[in-house]
Amino acid sequence: MSEDLFEKIIDREIPADIVFENDELLAFRDINPQAPVHVLIIPKRKIRTLNDLDEDDAGLVGRMVLAAKEIAASEGIAEDGYRLNLNCNERAGQSVWHIHLHLLGGRKMDWPPG
Ligand code: 5GP
Repeated sequence: MSEDLFEKIIDREIPADIVFENDELLAFRDINPQAPVHVLIIPKRKIRTLNDLDEDDAGLVGRMVLAAKEIAASEGIAEDGYRLNLNCNERAGQSVWHIHLHLLGGRKMDWPPG
């Protein structure tokens, strides 16, 4: 039995609109999109927060960013621009305890963020 929401998506216990998958990563559309394109890129291995990453995870995090770059291109937002966002813990807005990279695009992004 999967223990967190994103593990349930990985295990196909709950449905998601999956846009990319390989042995290590899964990417799917956010259920409550904050932009016309809002995709979450996650590792299949459970890592609760960014604070749990260590040196051995450097390649994994790099490949999450590269996957986001490829998805941005396939979604047609690479040239206009897009934002990648990682939230760590509650004060930054993390609500699912399995790290996830937000890919947001398709509209003008405010800076600084709220
Ligand atoms: P966080 O707030 O932790 O950075 O981001 C969690 C994200 O997961 C939120 O943007 C939220 O909308 C999304 N989310 C929560 N539950 C589900 C779900 O069941 N399916 C999908 N596709 N996204 C979800």
